Amino acid sequence: MVSSSQKALIDFARERLGERGVVVDRDDLAPWLTDWRGRYHGDAPALLQPDTLADVAAILERANALGVALVPQGGNTSMVGGATPPADGSALILSLRRMNRIRRIDADQNLAVAEAGVILQNLHEAAEAQGRRFPLTLGARGSATIGGLVSTNAGGTQVLRHGTMRALVAGVEAVLPDGAIHDGLAPLKKDNRGYDLNQLLIGAEGTLGIITAATLRLVPAIARRAVAWVGLDHPRTALNLLRRIEARTDAIESFEIIPGDSLALVLSAIPDTRAPLASEHRWHVLIEAVSGEGEELDPKKLLETVLADAFEAGMAEDAVIAASESQAEALWKLRHSLSEAERSAGPAVQHDISVPVAAMPDFMIDAAREAEARFPGTHATAFGHLGDGNVHFHVRAPQGAGWDRWYAQEAETISRFVNDLVVAAGGSISAEHGIGQMKLHELERLGSPARLSMLRAVKAAIDPRAICNPGKLVSLAPASRGT
Ligand SMILES: Cc1cc2nc3c(=O)[nH]c(=O)nc-3n(C[C@H](O)[C@H](O)[C@H](O)COP(=O)(O)OP(=O)(O)OC[C@H]3O[C@@H](n4cnc5c(N)ncnc54)[C@H](O)[C@@H]3O)c2cc1C
Repeated sequence: MVSSSQKALIDFARERLGERGVVVDRDDLAPWLTDWRGRYHGDAPALLQPDTLADVAAILERANALGVALVPQGGNTSMVGGATPPADGSALILSLRRMNRIRRIDADQNLAVAEAGVILQNLHEAAEAQGRRFPLTLGARGSATIGGLVSTNAGGTQVLRHGTMRALVAGVEAVLPDGAIHDGLAPLKKDNRGYDLNQLLIGAEGTLGIITAATLRLVPAIARRAVAWVGLDHPRTALNLLRRIEARTDAIESFEIIPGDSLALVLSAIPDTRAPLASEHRWHVLIEAVSGEGEELDPKKLLETVLADAFEAGMAEDAVIAASESQAEALWKLRHSLSEAERSAGPAVQHDISVPVAAMPDFMIDAAREAEARFPGTHATAFGHLGDGNVHFHVRAPQGAGWDRWYAQEAETISRFVNDLVVAAGGSISAEHGIGQMKLHELERLGSPARLSMLRAVKAAIDPRAICNPGKLVSLAPASRGT
């Protein structure tokens, strides 16, 4: 049922954006009403797709006046249902995908200005064409947009060296809920005008306004890279190895940990994969080192040296360094296939969590043991960005369980159990995917009163009519269950 206010906004958008800017056909809307994982099914009477800053501002101003809620959307690859509208059709989708110009690449300054709808892969290619690189990548790079990446403070596999989006964004242009334009694109090294509005908007998940463009930091394109695969006995050994390598170089971009049984799943479930090492190991790490144009460092030699050192110190059980780019890609394929392979083993309750880096090795072992003891028959496993203190912690269903029923009955209890362990370890229940609608209740259950009251105060001050992405990240009053 379309409300009269929604209808007024749709009519306004039609007049302002033309027919192309307003989607109401149910078939055309369908792909944007469900999240990437297929867990959340929303509804919306229309999707609006402006392609200029002025049009975004006009829509926000009118939506605010009418009290019509908007759900900002980029590539719709959110892992937490962040871009899925509410199921009751109470919001319209505001898609930024048509705002997809790369306004400028300044290779000398190592900066790019990209609009919100630019797809990450397109930015990668445009930067590479100028001998530069945007050093953030993730599995959804063919769909995820700059607006979504900024709004979720996305991470990925290069955070170890280059940080999350917070570190890579040098400026933000955004439209606030009342239609006011925040022009913060200038890449100022120093700016002491009080609260950092750009940082406030980064990671806000569209709850404080709409990102329309960002100034992004680039680095020199990769001239040479080396990728190694190492078998070892324990996550603590892996972290010690990383510390040892870091004492020698800052050229390590990725340091990913993979349990032996997850690797076995990849090898059995994913075509065209083969074991990287001749023997089996309880744990594995994938290491990537790179050097840029004009740098003397030879990443392959560097890895040879550090791995020889690791063997001598008794840390590495076995290791291989990719001899070619295709071998390097084959090693990365093993890492990138983990989620898919895990899925083939049946449903799992998945958590994207962080704890202090030094505490992560013990957490991975202890939390898995405790989860398996508390939920008999399950198998708990953790893999991912060890060097960032961030792993994906999966609790797999017991073999032969009626999987749908198992998930419906157990997922919430398991997540609460895992999240309690995370909080007890001083960690975060969302390391890189955000809160969205999936973790809203858990944030409210576990967030400190100070954190929750600050989140609510900021939301109430900037979006008092709650028109920007309601029901995600923060609710002005404690959220009722089942939203
Ligand atoms: C296969 C796969 C792998 C992934 N790997 C990673 C990973 O390694 N690291 C990681 O951090 N994430 C990862 N993700 C999650 C996802 O890709 C990121 O969260 C990404 O930033 C979302 O971008 P998007 O354009 O798809 O945003 P959407 O999913 O459309 O939106 C995400 C959130 O941002 C808001 N939003 C979108 N655009 C705007 C805008 N212009 N202004 C204001 N708010 C906006 C939405 O309302 C929503 O809350 C992965 C996802 C998939 C499917």
